[in-house]
Formats: sequence, structure tokens, C-alpha cells
Amino acid sequence: MRIAVGQLWQETNTFNRNPTTLSDFKDWGIATGPDVLGKYGETGELGGFVAECAQWNPDIEFVGLARMVCWPWGSIDVPTWQRIRQTFIEGLQAAGQVDGVFLALHGALCAENEFDVTGALLQLTREIVGPKVPIVGTLDLHANITPKMMNSADLLVGYHTSPHLDHFETGQRGVRGLRRMIESGTRPHKYYRKIPMMTPAESHNSFTGVPAPLYRKLEALERDPRVLSAGLYMVMPWLDCPKLGWTITLHTDKPDGEFDKVVQDLADQCWSLRPAMCEIERFSPEEVVAKAKAHGGHPIAIGDGADATNSGCPGDSTALLREFLKQQPIPHGALTFVVDPDAVAAAYEAGVGGKFDLHVGATFSPEYSNPVRVQGTVERVLPMKFILNGHGGKQMPIDMGRAAVIKSGDVSIVLTERTGPGSTPLLYETAGLDPRTCGMVVAKSPAGFRADYEPFCKAILLADGPGCATPNFPRLKFDHISKPLWPLQEIANPEDAAWCQS
Ligand SMILES: [Zn+2]
Repeated sequence: MRIAVGQLWQETNTFNRNPTTLSDFKDWGIATGPDVLGKYGETGELGGFVAECAQWNPDIEFVGLARMVCWPWGSIDVPTWQRIRQTFIEGLQAAGQVDGVFLALHGALCAENEFDVTGALLQLTREIVGPKVPIVGTLDLHANITPKMMNSADLLVGYHTSPHLDHFETGQRGVRGLRRMIESGTRPHKYYRKIPMMTPAESHNSFTGVPAPLYRKLEALERDPRVLSAGLYMVMPWLDCPKLGWTITLHTDKPDGEFDKVVQDLADQCWSLRPAMCEIERFSPEEVVAKAKAHGGHPIAIGDGADATNSGCPGDSTALLREFLKQQPIPHGALTFVVDPDAVAAAYEAGVGGKFDLHVGATFSPEYSNPVRVQGTVERVLPMKFILNGHGGKQMPIDMGRAAVIKSGDVSIVLTERTGPGSTPLLYETAGLDPRTCGMVVAKSPAGFRADYEPFCKAILLADGPGCATPNFPRLKFDHISKPLWPLQEIANPEDAAWCQS
């Protein structure tokens, strides 16, 4: 048996004005052919794919298509999307006859000339392998599911956790569905329901948050032998594209009126969660730092969702850094990070122990914050490389380029050349700083950082800063969404959003 396998994964923030380029993908590691699994066969969904295939049939021949992964950033530029398409087309054509296709995807990926990259990739895959070969796609819980994705793939399998901790298991679930299709020779019946809403990512906690009971229902549904996959996709909201909104999907062995009702009930419950999903306490940068200082315990983690690198922001906001510098002294110190390649270069030039006096930050998104003058000492320079295990990745190699630690009074600033996971304490630990003993620490993530920070922090506070992942959606200019979409437009009844039915 021959199974083709590939990965195209990035979460796009269309409000990040900086395009994602081929060199960004190269920085995160492009692989083709046997290297797809040779290099990344233990990472995330591909790891789950390999492990589950081994259980199924050790003689499966894997045909590597391509692995193209990039940390969340702006829309993919036109030549890069063209190159991605071509790479997958060549891989699929070279693969010849296969018995199945497994693609690890994200589902919230835009190019400058294609709103639905995931759907387009699934469609071209279908065109090349033909109607009979089963295609499975795995997706992030924040995917924006489109009719093209539903029609082109036989089965879609999404994460069931937020913070995202089930990359591996999602790969396994995808293989189990693929196995069932190949062994039975049948294809699932598909249910698809769009809900005209988007919600702040801070409330997307599938373990303890408002939507948690719905995820328990999905798990129960997947224990039903008639169900191949049950999905609830709370959508990446900073994706200005048509048909943006929550989606419920269900793939079953055959049509059944009972499942129509299941999907309708789930949709009703999602819609009714809107007020509770918006009950989030946030503080201005000035207030949040003052509050953390006044708390009395430490460490306090401050989530800067509006500049979340996990949500495709540049990570260059200075809103919290400015307050840290202003509100000194800060007992036990404050830790933050800023993506600023020029500042890193200056730190390397000054050398360890050297004097640092430079305006940093706001280099990629000057429309959201201003550079802030940092006077201090270069404490350390290092390559910011580590293996991410937790929210955002499993066994995922991270390379944020060169980094430097600048100490300015009580404030330690990690400067990096490139973006990367803002949700993990590893970012600071790799730089020789200790987020467990500091006074306050910034996570550039709306919600996922809780998985790592909650166990050792005395409190978690959320900042309401500026940035291209602000949860205050009316602050952003959405030009391409299908309307009405709550909360940008008031909707009395979700059935009034005609675009959801098409
Ligand atoms: Zn996500």
C-alpha cells in the first residue's frame, strides 16, 4: 500500500502588513520526497501519522510530497504561493498511483491572491489523484472551513484542544479515518454548518473555558462507531476573507436524520455562547503593569494578545515594554521580548557587557506602536533555537534567528531576529532568564500561553494593547468578510446570514 503525505501549515494574519515569503518557509525548514518523514516524521501531526500507520500496516510505503511550515505572519506573497502549488503538484505527479493521501494542514492560510489556500491545495490534490483516492486533511481548531475544503477532502479532522496540545493525536485520528475508508471502500457522509460569528481567542479554552462542554460532546461523538470525525472550528478571527466564521463539521458512515439534529443542536449551542465568550477582563498596558506590581505575589504572566506572535502578529509592539521601563522599580524584575532584527544586530555589535542605547520595536507594524528608547547593557547573545513541546507544536524545531538579552534596570528584554512562539516560557529559558522567579513576564499569545504559564504563575492578566490581533474587532478594517458577521454586525437570528447557507 502506498500513501502520499505532506504538510502545509501556517496561520495567516491578514492584518499583519508584512507578507510571508519563501525565505520565511525556508527558515522553518522545507522538505520534499523522503525528507518529509525523514526529517519531520516525529513532529506534530506527521508524528501521529507515522505512529498510527505503524500500528495499521508496517509495510505501508510512504510517498513524501512536501513539508512547508511557517510561523504565523502576514499573507503569503504571490510568488511563494505559486511555488508552494508547484511543489505539491510536482510531488503528487511524481507519486504516481497511491492508495490514499494524508495532508497536515492549518485551514486559516491566505495568500495575497488566494483567500483559501487550504481549499485550493485540497482541490488541486483531488484533481491530480482523481475522484477515487481518499484524501484526509488535518486542521487547526482555528481553521476557517470552506465548501471547497469540504468538497475536495473526503475527511477533515481538526484539533480538539485549545491551547493546542493534540497535534500528534490529530494525526492519529486522521490515519484511523483513512484506514477505514481504504478498508471499507466507502466514503463518509459530510455535514457542514457555518455559524456567522467570531469570538476573542482569549475565551477559546477547550479545557476549562466557555466552549469546553462542546468539545466534550465532539469527543463523545467520535466514540460513536458511525462517526469518523466531529469538528468545531472557532476560527482565526484576524483573517479578512469571505465566509469567515465558526464551523461545525461531522463526517459519518452514512446519512442519518439523527445527525442533522446533532449538528443543529451544536450550532444552537455555539450561537448561545456569544455573551459568555466576550466576558473577558482586559486592562490597558499602563493598568496591567500597575496591577501586576500591586498583586503582591509573583510571577504574574501578562498576555499581550493584540501582539500575539502565535496569532500572526510581528511581536514588535512596545506597549508593555514602555510601561515596564516607566513603572520601575519592578520587584524580581520584568521579562519581555521584541522581534527586532536591527536591534539584535546592534546588540551583537556592542558585544556582551557592552552598552546598548537604541530605539527598539515597532519596526514591522509602526501603525500600532512607537519605538521605545532602551538604555542598558547587553547581557547575552545567543541563537534562539529550541524544541517546542506544548501549545503550538509537538517536537517542533524552532529557530528565531539570533537573539540578545538587554538589561535595563529591572527589565530584561529578549530581542530576536525572527518571530516564533510567544506562548512558551522556553523563549526566556533559552535566553538564560527565569520566568518562574521573575516579577512579571509577557506572553505574546491570547490564550495558548496558559498551558505553560498557569502551573507556576500567581496570576494571569490580559493586556488590551494595540496590534493586529486585537480582540476589539471593530478597531480593524474588515473589507472581505461575508456580512452579516457577529459582532461586527448585529444579527437577530443566525439563519438571517444567507451566506452561511451557500
Ligand atoms: Zn489555532
